[in-house]
Amino acid sequence: MGNITFTMIKPEAVAAGNIGAILKMIEGNGFRIVALKKVQLTKNMAGTFYEVHKERPFYGELVDYMSSGPIVAAILEKENAVVDFRALIGATDPAEAEDGTIRKLFAESKSKNAVHGSDSDENAQIEADFHFSAGERF
Ligand code: ATP
Ligand code: MG
Repeated sequence: MGNITFTMIKPEAVAAGNIGAILKMIEGNGFRIVALKKVQLTKNMAGTFYEVHKERPFYGELVDYMSSGPIVAAILEKENAVVDFRALIGATDPAEAEDGTIRKLFAESKSKNAVHGSDSDENAQIEADFHFSAGERF
């Protein structure tokens, strides 16, 4: 048993048919899928989820984008889950992401960057609780 992180496969990666390839990389790198679902966020949900970025200039664009189509949400378990998953996804801007990372392979741009990954253990818990009830975790 390790600790957890939370991820979303973002709308452009879902639309491009990359759910399977991204989940394969996630499982292939030692993460266990604890919970998984495809869902479309309302603007309200996306706004709440990204509330920490409320004052940033790209907040409106981010909320519109994240509610523009279905996403895949998941809770992932691994030792050192948060840090290891941030390494697997790569830098926010795919132009700066290392070769072999999920964003290097699948992201379109800095805003349409294929996946979300929690940035701390505390936020991983908050984000997992936002999307999944206890009965949806195995
Ligand atoms: P995420 O939280 O989605 O895992 P991150 O932690 O790498 O990404 P944050 O700084 O938390 O990056 O930004 C959240 C999201 O907001 C980014 O993933 C991206 O979609 C969008 N974003 C960040 N910076 C910009 C920017 N300068 N212009 C447009 N969109 C941006
Ligand atoms: Mg972030």
